[in-house]
Amino acid sequence: MKKIIYPGSFDPLTFGHLDVLERAVKIFDKVIVAVAGNSEKTPLFSFEERIEMLRIAAKDNPKIEVDSFNGLLVEYASKKGASVILRGLRALSDFEYEFQMALTNRKLYENIETIFMMPSESYSYLSSRMIKEIASMGGDVRDFVPDYVAARLKARIQNRK
Ligand code: ADP
Repeated sequence: MKKIIYPGSFDPLTFGHLDVLERAVKIFDKVIVAVAGNSEKTPLFSFEERIEMLRIAAKDNPKIEVDSFNGLLVEYASKKGASVILRGLRALSDFEYEFQMALTNRKLYENIETIFMMPSESYSYLSSRMIKEIASMGGDVRDFVPDYVAARLKARIQNRK
């Protein structure tokens, strides 16, 4: 069984994340979406909230597992029995960081390979950070995220005001 780990902050998930996820599901037997716990970024949504939104997105697909991890990604992947890591690649700006991370991970665990998938061009400019900025200024984000994410963003931002 070919398993792949799709790690990220998912703060919150966007149609770009889901586009890549759907592509991976067509190729792999199991896709483990793993919310990273030890990111340096301060998230808008808690670990649990991000996991919950991903679970809603994945609920009809038995090939998707939603999980979380702390610590080294390669150690987590190896513990889960996955030898492939998936990352989404948008514009050239993603490349440098992703390149560095993929090669560092390979140095740490040479048996784990990182692969990249590109989303549909209509999502290639989307980022969680941009979505949060739009939502914080009262903009409509329903073209970019599922309705349940848009509703949670609205509620979170209203609570902060
Ligand atoms: P991280 O903090 O690990 O970068 P993100 O949630 O921002 O977490 O992204 C997780 C993964 O999803 C990364 O590989 C990122 O490049 C990818 N990704 C984010 N937005 C998009 C998008 N619009 N289209 C395709 N991939 C994306």
